[in-house]
Formats: sequence, C-alpha cells, structure tokens
Amino acid sequence: MNNHNIRVLVIEDNPGDFRLIQEMLSEAKDKLFQVELAENLSGALECLKQGRIDVVMSDLGLPDSQGLATFEQLRARHPDLPIVVLTSTYDDEATAVKAVSRGAQDYLVKGQVDGKLISRVLLYALERMRVKEELRKGRDRAQKYLDVAGVIMVAIEANQKIALMNKKGCEVLGYKQEELVGRNWFDTVIPKGIRDEVKDVFDQLIAGGIEPVEYFENSVLTKSGQELLIAWHNTALKDEKGNIIGTLSSGEDITERKQAEGALRESEQKSRMLVSSITDGVIMLDKDLHIALMNPAALSIVDQPESGSYPDTAQLQRALEMDFEEWRRKFAHDQEGLQRKAVGINGRFYEITISPIKDAQERFAGMVISLRDVSEEKKLEELKSEFVSIVSHELRTPLTCIKSALDLILSKRTGDISQDQDKFLSMASRNVNRLTRIINDFLDLSKMEAGKMQIRFQKLDLGAIIEAAVSTFALGAKEKSVSLSAEIPPNLPTITGDPDRLNQVLSNLLSNALKYTPEGGKIAIKASNINCLETPIPEILSLPYRDYVRIEVTDTGPGIPQDDLKRVFDKFFQVEKSLTRMMPGTGLGLPICRQLVEAHEGRIWAESRPGTGSKFVFVLPLLNGVEIFNSYLENLIQRAKSAVSCLSLDLVRINHFQTIKVGLGVERVREIFERVVEIVSKSSYKATDHVLPDEESARVFLILENTPKEGALAVCERLKQNLLNFDFSLDDASIELEFSLGVATYPDDANSSKELIQMTERTELISALVVKQRTVLVIDDEENFAHSLGRKLKRRNYQAVEAFDGVEGLEKALQMDPDLIILDVKMPRMDGYEVIKRLRETEETKDIPILALSGSLHTDTDRLMALGANEFVTKPFSDGLLLDAVRKLIRKREVKHGYRIVGG
Ligand code: ADP
Repeated sequence: MNNHNIRVLVIEDNPGDFRLIQEMLSEAKDKLFQVELAENLSGALECLKQGRIDVVMSDLGLPDSQGLATFEQLRARHPDLPIVVLTSTYDDEATAVKAVSRGAQDYLVKGQVDGKLISRVLLYALERMRVKEELRKGRDRAQKYLDVAGVIMVAIEANQKIALMNKKGCEVLGYKQEELVGRNWFDTVIPKGIRDEVKDVFDQLIAGGIEPVEYFENSVLTKSGQELLIAWHNTALKDEKGNIIGTLSSGEDITERKQAEGALRESEQKSRMLVSSITDGVIMLDKDLHIALMNPAALSIVDQPESGSYPDTAQLQRALEMDFEEWRRKFAHDQEGLQRKAVGINGRFYEITISPIKDAQERFAGMVISLRDVSEEKKLEELKSEFVSIVSHELRTPLTCIKSALDLILSKRTGDISQDQDKFLSMASRNVNRLTRIINDFLDLSKMEAGKMQIRFQKLDLGAIIEAAVSTFALGAKEKSVSLSAEIPPNLPTITGDPDRLNQVLSNLLSNALKYTPEGGKIAIKASNINCLETPIPEILSLPYRDYVRIEVTDTGPGIPQDDLKRVFDKFFQVEKSLTRMMPGTGLGLPICRQLVEAHEGRIWAESRPGTGSKFVFVLPLLNGVEIFNSYLENLIQRAKSAVSCLSLDLVRINHFQTIKVGLGVERVREIFERVVEIVSKSSYKATDHVLPDEESARVFLILENTPKEGALAVCERLKQNLLNFDFSLDDASIELEFSLGVATYPDDANSSKELIQMTERTELISALVVKQRTVLVIDDEENFAHSLGRKLKRRNYQAVEAFDGVEGLEKALQMDPDLIILDVKMPRMDGYEVIKRLRETEETKDIPILALSGSLHTDTDRLMALGANEFVTKPFSDGLLLDAVRKLIRKREVKHGYRIVGG
C-alpha cells in the first residue's frame, strides 16, 4: 500500500450519497484516495475478491443485506480488512456502535461528515488495522517460540483459566490446543487429591500473599487419565502496575527419569547390599588402578577399619602380593582373568581370583579381585597329606614282608610248589608290586604337597637325561612295535635342576605315552629353546622369566577330551569313557609330574585333539643355581610370612673348593660333597626341614621351617659336631678340608631370600678338618698274620707298617709316629706287656692308641689295660669288629687332642 494511493471501496446503494462521498474524498490533498463503488453486498464481495481494496466504507442497509449482517458477512470473508460503517441519522446508530464492538474500525453518520473527517477516519482505520496485524503476528511468533520449546509452557490467568498452552504441553497432556485454552487449569489437569491444595496456593500467589515457588514437582493428569510427574519452573506475570495477573510455568515430564532413577537406586542398593554381605573379600579397581570399592570382608582381611578410608594401593599390593600394573598389562594383552593363587595374609590363606572389567569398546576399565578364605581347606589338605604319609609308611613295612615271603616261596627255596600254586602266588606278587608302586606314588605326592620333597639342584645336561629316559623305554616300545624318537637340538643350554626328578617326570610321561599308544604308533620327544618375549605362551604368562627350555612328548594314542586336559593333572583323575580307563594306573603320575616341574619353577600342560593323540609339554626356566635357589627359598619365606612364622637357614660351605677340585679331581670332590650333604641331612630331625645342596658353589643349605634362631644355632652346633666326627678319609690322598658354618633367621636377620643368604655367608663360624691317611703299625711275630692284616687295613685306606717283634715295633713307633698300634701280646724277645709299658713311658709315643690282640684265654686283660692299652680284641676276630675298633680309637684320640681341629 502506498499513502498516495489508498483504494477505498464504498458500498452504497444511494447514488447521491456515493457522489457526495466521492467529492469529499477527492477534495483531499494530493488526491490520496482512489474510490470504487459497489451498490450492493454481492457486488462488493465480488470486487473484494480481486484483492485490490485497502479499506471498506459500507452502508449497512443494502438492497441484498440489512443491518449488522452486512458487516458480519464482510468481516467473515475478509477479517484483515479495515471496515468503517456508514449510517444515517435516522438509522439506528446503535447498530453501528455494535458493529464497532465486533470489529469495525469506526462509524460515520451521513450528513454529519466533511472531507477532512472522512479522510482522517479512513486513515486511522487503516493504521489501527496495521497495528492490530502487527500484534497478531507478534503473538503468533511468541506462540511459535513456545511451541518449539521442548518443555510444557503454560500461562494461567488470575481466574485460573489457561491463557496459553504450547504444542509440547498439548502433546504431553493429550489435548488439542483449543480444548485447553480458556479451561480451568486446575480442574482439567490437576489430580483430585491435590487439586484444592494447589488451587489454594495459586490463589494466595495471585493475591500477593506468597512469592511464586521457583521450582516444584507435582503430578498432572493427561486426557487419558494417566498420571505424570512434572518438574515446574514458575514466574509470576504482572501488569504494568505490578499487579500479578497470572503465572507462566515451564514444565518437564520427569516420570520416566524418576522411575529410572528409582530403579537405579534400588539396583544400586541391592548390589551394594550384595557386595557388602558377601563373606568373600571383593575389591574393585578402576582403570587407573585406584581402589574403587572394597567390601567389609576385604577390609577386614587386610586389617583396615571398616569405617575408615581404603588402604593405599601400594599397601594393598604388598598385602596381596600382587603387582596391579602387571595385571593391567596382562589384561591389555587379552589375557583372561580368573587367575588363582593362594596367598597368606595375617595368618590365613586366601585364594585370589582376578578378573578384568571391560567397557563397551572392550577396553580395560578396571579389575575385580576376590579373596576366598581357604585356610580351613589348606589345613585339611595338610592333615590329609600327613595322614596319607603316615598310613603309607605303615603299609610299606608289612608289604615288604609279604613280598619277601612270596618271593621266597616262588624261588622254591622253601620247597617245591605246584603249577597252580606258582600261578596264584605270582599273581599275588604282581599285585603286591603294584600296591607298592601306588603307595610310593602316594608318599611322593604327599611329601611334595607338604613341601618336604627334597630337590637337589645341580647343573645338568637335559639332552643326556632325555636320552637316558628314551633308552629306558626303548625295549618296551620295540616289544609293542611303537616307534620312539627324540629330537634334541645341539645348542640346548644346560639348566639347573634335579636330574633324578626330571628323569621321573620324563619317565612318567613316556610310560603313559607307551601305555596308551596302540601297536604301530609313534612317540616323539622334542626339546627346544624358547624366548617368551618372542613367542608368548599363555600357560607361562604368570611366570617372570624370559628364557625356557621346552620339552614335548607326543604320542598317537587315543588323545584326551578337551574338557579333561586340565583335570588330568588332578590327583586320581583318569579319563572316563575311553580306552585309557581300561589301563591299570593310579592317577597320580601326572600330579607328581606337575609338582616336580613346578618345584623347578616350570609349568606343564597337555594338548590334544582326540583321535590324533596327546601332547604333554613342560617348560623349565633357564635359571642358574643361585636364581633357582633364591626363588625356592623366597617361596618358603613367603609361606612363613603369611603364617606369621619364622624360618632359619643353616649353611655349610666347603672352603677352597676350587683348589681341592684341582688337586683331587671332580669325582673325588663330588664324593666329599655328597658326604657333606649326607651329614647335613642327618643333622636335621624335622620332616619340614629342606636340604638344598648347591654343588656349584660348594654350599649346602638347611632350611628350617618354623624354627627360631636358637633352634637353628642348636642344629648348627650338631652339624659342626657331626662334621668333626665324620671320617672324610680318602684312599691315598691327604687333604685339608675347611668348612664355614652360618646361621640366619627370618624375620630377625633379613626379609628376603637374598639378604638371608648373605647373612649366613657373613656369619663366621669357621671349623676345619684335616683329612689325611692314617698310619697303623702292626706288631706281630706271625708274619703271615701281619701281612694279611696290613692288606686289609690298606684296603680300608690306612697306611699299614709291619714290625715282627717288640723291639722293631718300638723303633718303628718312634720313627713313624703312627696313628694307632696293633700289638700282639704273645711275642718272643719282648712281649706285648713290655712294649706297652715302654711306649707309655716314652714322651713321643705315650699318646698313640694301642689295640692289643691276644690268642690266648689266659691273657691278663686287667694288666694290659692298667699298663695303658686302649682296647683289646681276642683272636680269632671278625675283620669288621677289628676295623671298627681301629676307626674308633683313631677318632677318639684325634677328637680328644683337638688334633683334627685347626680352627673355630
Ligand atoms: P595313570 O596312572 O592313570 O596313568 P596319570 O596321572 O599318569 O595316571 O594319568 C592320568 C590320566 O590321564 C590317565 O588315567 C589317562 O586317562 C590320561 N592320560 C595320561 N597320559 C595319557 C596319554 N599319553 N594319552 C591318553 N591319555 C592319557
């Protein structure tokens, strides 16, 4: 529209009036108005349809429409068009006023108007319409904003009626907009139960009695009768004078959230109750390895007060003997959880199970550690072990008797037996053998389980051990037409281990393989070196070592079902439903193998695809003697630690061992070492003591479990005496042996195996022995007798010197300073009594022990002893008796004079 050209439609059936109006408008300045005429309503409507008209000026009395109806029809069709009603003085002016109240912009009375008035009225009408239009648009825009909002928006007037409700609100409440606007808010949507109360609050608010509550939650009813919980935010609407005229509220449907929150809270509460009432300890770590949760049981296990905070992570790791970081690494490498290990904490034993927590992307999100108290089981297990070992011992003795009786009868030394008797007795004998085997296995296993099996570590060539085991089974394999082969690489490193025990492992595996492999089958042993960093093996991931030798025994027997692969290492387990069940066995062989391999810090497992045979694999870490000894001792220290007990270590070291080795040769030295080991073993009385020989460095350790320092010192003293009293004499060599003895106790002296060993080494209890060939002087006038006795003595490692009468004897005694004199009493020239008397009178010979021999019953023994003989033996005598007496006499003198003791 343009102010210079306002188009006016005049609806007037009186041509005179129209002309008048036309003239008046044309008088207007700048010819503002462009006037069109319609003589009746239908003509007007026709003209309006074309849409060119800006404002209408209409008489109400027309040929085709009368009164207010004229206006109503116009407005209904063109609500946006400003309409000015024309009326005459004789018409009812009241009708015109009514039209204005219904939306007409103004009215004019014909005959009372001039050009100025008309044009002003028309211009005002136009302007008012424009403003109204602006307002409407503004309101529409506001409604649109409200509709876009994701929350309910409702304006309530002071009279409780809904002034405005946005789309979301309608959606939530299930009404159409027109169904709500104008209705009483409270009667429509507030549930009956709280309606009056809410109304009351609203009325007080409108009356200015209270401030609007900024936030509250209450229920509303939807059209379908569903009750929803809404969170409301409210503001008061005020007029320009500050009077409250209503409220504007935004509301959010929180029904589901509240329900979910409730459910979550409930489930959280349930889990918390569950976790805290579990008697097992449960610890949860988050992805940064911080403690996220510890239930009361876990807190009490690590001695942490329940109300206080969690222990710090380092402290927890120490208590559980775990390295969390290491586990995180393992889980990152996709290792499965559920690793079990038994750990002693504050005197009780716990089985620890560790499982990873993964997030939705399968990334590490933490771990759960559970601690199950297995102390009772362990105690029972120990009792059982002990019981088994006692029973087995008791069974072995009568069995030996039965066996020798059977063998005796079968050998027919007690008389002839019939064929039938032979048959049945042989059967009995075979079964006795079998029973003995079972009992031996039993005993072995119970010893190992109680930690009493002695492992004697030494450097060894595994290849040779494999070859020896293979050759033991070669004949059996040949008889069964089974091929048996071994593949040993030439560069297989030497390892530290117990050759007998490893032989036992191989023999068990080979005997199983041979037992289960049918005729024409194959058994192969293969050894190799592996480096864990290059080829990680899941079975040994929990071990800290890097280099291993791997030995596998493969057969073409029936194989083992997948589910049984782990269980074959359980005691008494035998695979059901297979051929193997028919074979005689104890179900103890593999558990023994496992114990032995694990005592070497190794691992053993079985692989199999049923139908194609079995493969038993074991790996042994490449540790040197010191390392393996350390880890062995460390395990025992840990055991003592968790049992809040102590542990002592006694050490015997043969000093200058290398020099002795050069002098005597390896074989001899090994003999000496063996004897020392034997002495150490004999010096310990307790079944829980462990003898650990370390031949490489010429040390023998005696580990005394549950023994305090005083006990260990007492054992050490006994050890020292036993060493001193032992005859180390060698055939032809003279050598000085020097020993260091040492004692150290956990926890008094040290906390770790390394320190403990260092402590024993530092203790200076030095004792030394001289081992040399002893000289025996034989004085007898019967030359043949003297020669024969001399030969016997030489065979027993003595140097024998012979003299054939008393005078010669006295001379040689002075000359040679023998360690012992064997003297015949009855001799010509000078008899034995005289010789003794003279020997005792002479300073150089007065201490030499004298063994008197007499062939006559009339010998005056009292006189002999009174003169100074130390012992007398009557002819004829057994060699054993005489030699025994010889040894004793020499020893007695040496000890008495401290002769053999050089130091300490
Ligand atoms: P057993 O004295 O019964 O052989 P083991 O402990 O040596 O006891 O073996 C346990 C069980 O494992 C055996 O009974 C057998 O079922 C199974 N088994 C062991 N070695 C083999 C093998 N080489 N092939 C098939 N099954 C085997």
